[in-house]
Amino acid sequence: MYDDTALRRLLIELAASHPEHAAVIRAFTPLALARGKLLDAYALSRKTKPLDGFPMFRFEELPVCSEKSGAIASAVLEAVAEGFPGAREQVEAVRDALKPGSVRRLCKASLAHDPEPLALFAEKNSLSPDVLDMVIAQTVKILMARTANSLPEAPFDPARKTCPYCGGKPELSVVHEKEGHRSLFCTDCGRHWRFQRTACPSCGCDKPDNLRLHFAENTPDERAVSCKNCGHYILEADIRKRDLALDGAAIVCLGMGYLDALMQEQGLLPLGESA
Ligand SMILES: [Zn+2]
Ligand SMILES: [Zn+2]
Repeated sequence: MYDDTALRRLLIELAASHPEHAAVIRAFTPLALARGKLLDAYALSRKTKPLDGFPMFRFEELPVCSEKSGAIASAVLEAVAEGFPGAREQVEAVRDALKPGSVRRLCKASLAHDPEPLALFAEKNSLSPDVLDMVIAQTVKILMARTANSLPEAPFDPARKTCPYCGGKPELSVVHEKEGHRSLFCTDCGRHWRFQRTACPSCGCDKPDNLRLHFAENTPDERAVSCKNCGHYILEADIRKRDLALDGAAIVCLGMGYLDALMQEQGLLPLGESA
């Protein structure tokens, strides 16, 4: 039986400990819960044999079936309508216009980083391009995670800066276990892999005193880690004092928007972005 008690508790705790982000956390709560439920309901059987080569799959190769992508998109639409009541009308319009076949086509375009089919579809059906983009992007992320979750663990390579499963960029760093292991979470498929503690996940620079930690005095376990060498930063959560499974840790960054703002004020760039 799928049980999301821990995820629900974490979302409530986060909103309580970060009142300034509570509105954002509440808006994304239905989506986070729907994602967990969909990944459980549509799980692929886990492959046990290691596959050849990394990344193990690429965006463009992802199988996108009409029926499943349609069902996933409709659950995403429901979650977006619940989380963003102010956009309910726009969400309803997207729901009416999207047929399973068009979801599949738009997901394929999004996977191939081709914005045109989405723009045309929004225009033709008088939809809000932002709402359509969000629904398709979230559907694609769930499809990516579904495939990635079926893959066996990648062999440890301490210097691996991109996702071994899909080739995506890391969006969050998590310090866990007594030994202070560090794992990076993928923006696209949501899986994580071990990475060396002292190196920059953007440029790989591993010199003493190169990384700087930035945090608010009362929350040292939530920080941004910036690199003097390349000027990029990544958000990092230290979950060693929390009762939190590593898989659930990515949700913690919903409460860390203040660190993004602080870093960008200092002219530092999120990973993967160039000036
Ligand atoms: Zn990935
Ligand atoms: Zn760097």
